[in-house]
Amino acid sequence: MNDLELAQKEFGILDRVPEGACILREDFNVVFWNRCLENWTGISRHDILGKNISVYFPHLHQPKYIFRLQQIFSGGPPTLFSSQLHKSIIPCQLPDGRWRIQHTTVTAVPAVNSQVKESEEIDDRAPQKQPFYALFVIEDVTDLTQRIQDYRNMRDRALEEINERRKVEQELRQSQHFIQKVADTAPYIIYIYNLFNQQIFYVNEQVNVLLGYSIAEIQAMNLNNFAELIKLEDLKQLPAHFAKFAQAQDGDIIEIDYQVRHSSGEWRWFHCREVIFTRTADGKPQQILGTAQDISERKQAEAALHLQIEKERLMAGITQQIHRSLNLNEVLDTAVTEVRHFLQADRVSVCQFQQTMAGENEQSNIGMITVESKADDCRSILKYRIPNCYFKENYSCCYNQEGIRKIDSLCNESCLCWHKILLQKWQVKSSLEVPIRQGKNLWGVLMVHHCQSTRKWQELEVDLMKELANQLTIAIQQAELYQKLQAANQELSRLASSDSLTQLANRRRFDEYLTKEWRRLEREQAPLSLIICDVDFFKKYNDTYGHQAGDFCLQEVAIAIRQAVKRPADLVARYGGEEFAIVLPRTPIDGAHHVAETLRKNVLGLKLPHSGSAISKYVTISVGITSVVPNHRCWPAKLIEAADRALYQAKQAGRNCAIGLRVESTIV
Ligand code: GH3
Ligand code: MG
Ligand code: MG
Repeated sequence: MNDLELAQKEFGILDRVPEGACILREDFNVVFWNRCLENWTGISRHDILGKNISVYFPHLHQPKYIFRLQQIFSGGPPTLFSSQLHKSIIPCQLPDGRWRIQHTTVTAVPAVNSQVKESEEIDDRAPQKQPFYALFVIEDVTDLTQRIQDYRNMRDRALEEINERRKVEQELRQSQHFIQKVADTAPYIIYIYNLFNQQIFYVNEQVNVLLGYSIAEIQAMNLNNFAELIKLEDLKQLPAHFAKFAQAQDGDIIEIDYQVRHSSGEWRWFHCREVIFTRTADGKPQQILGTAQDISERKQAEAALHLQIEKERLMAGITQQIHRSLNLNEVLDTAVTEVRHFLQADRVSVCQFQQTMAGENEQSNIGMITVESKADDCRSILKYRIPNCYFKENYSCCYNQEGIRKIDSLCNESCLCWHKILLQKWQVKSSLEVPIRQGKNLWGVLMVHHCQSTRKWQELEVDLMKELANQLTIAIQQAELYQKLQAANQELSRLASSDSLTQLANRRRFDEYLTKEWRRLEREQAPLSLIICDVDFFKKYNDTYGHQAGDFCLQEVAIAIRQAVKRPADLVARYGGEEFAIVLPRTPIDGAHHVAETLRKNVLGLKLPHSGSAISKYVTISVGITSVVPNHRCWPAKLIEAADRALYQAKQAGRNCAIGLRVESTIV
């Protein structure tokens, strides 16, 4: 048997393996070619056996294969042609046209003919080198490679996706960070409000800066908390504001201004611009996105401007009133009322000091609330007397030095004890007090009280009070001058119309009054009576007791006559030397008789000794009475004449008596 036949016999078993198998001799001739290779390559063993492999597969003649195969032929260790480096040792195609990828192991196997030689005689002359065949075992790894490739592709794609996602996430994070940064550094609050659960879904860091609350605190708030944070008058307009969203289109900006309380308690104005952010499945607005800008400064400026205008209007009004009115109480009343309305205060009052000399040098000041304007629900302090101790502590040291006393919050005030006690008693929470001076002296204090809540007094309000105090000082000076002038005028007119000895009205006053009453009663057609009385034997009195005693007697008689006259409209006058006249408006002759008799008796009742009298030991008077209903045919002189005649008749009748004559009878 030749080598080929031996090989077929020896390695025939390899026909059964599902892998390619072939055996080369050291001359590269094929000695075995299994069935599998016949199938793969389409080359039959009859064709290839005994032929050099490079006839069919020339690439195997390359040095890199020759070199490695020679090592195998010399019995070297197995060698591996991996599918990665040597895709196909025996290139052949699959039915679908793909090239089979092969993983080939080449192992040295003892050559078959050597086994034959072993049984023969051994040639001792030369050492026999044992020949080896190269057994190629070729594994088809096309599918495996394909699967590995697919897997690798898949893995690469996955890695790519992961990388891509990481990149996107990174970018997103960067962009979120950017947006967050923008949101947090924006100079206004950005928020998302849920209309359904009435909670803040999102808010930026500015909420902390502008309102003093943390994001978590705001997000934990519900409607009740918001109601406490928003000013009551602004809270009322919120339902109408939210109702607008029902009709709003996406992108419509709805604006509102309202005041929100900072965590410190201070009110801040916000301008809010809101848009619909999300809607429910049925299209109802669900979340709104808004920005809230702090416009407190602008609002304050507006309010200050408004206040300034109002202040000027108020001052102009009060100044005008001071110029118009000389009545101090009227001026003070207007001032406290106007100031209370302007400052929206609970109570504005004036405490006026009454200065008395308590000791030799010590000046004691007692204050009293003389003018007040107050809110209906505020307690009145009118007529309240302020004790001395209050002023001992406050009057001189505070008002005289500082000028104005401003208390924003009484609780926080470390003011002097009595002052605080008094203000607490009056339920005051904030107070503004400004002195009203009169030269070097303190005339009083103008006080503004806030009782409902504390209040931070504005510079402008303090200025207003100072200005007002100055104006009131002018008003006080003016009113005082006017009072003095009035008193002087009154004294003048009193002097001009009274008799210096008896203090009764003088003849001039009598004439004026009689004429005036005559005219009035002529219109009213009421009676007017006149009494004229004369001291009896007065010449004798003077002669007996002296002129000075005569004067004193006249004073006593004057008092007695005045006491007999009761009605305010009655006028008692000294008509001449020892003669007195009494005008009795709306008094008929009978009434006049009664008065005459009373005064006659009063004079007699004085029991002034008169030794010179021919009719009595005391001073007596004779009285003439007349009465008329004034009319155009008569005039006052006729009345006097009639009374004079009646007096004459009384003298004639023996004195110390009263005689009446009707005026009619005098008309000629
Ligand atoms: P008859 O009773 O008639 O009235 O007598 P008569 O003395 O009172 O009257 P007559 O008119 O003669 O005298 C009035 C006197 O009154 C004259 C005058 O000296 C005196 N007399 C007038 N005015 C005053 C006065 O102001 N003071 C004093 N002391 N005497 C006066
Ligand atoms: Mg006389
Ligand atoms: Mg006389």
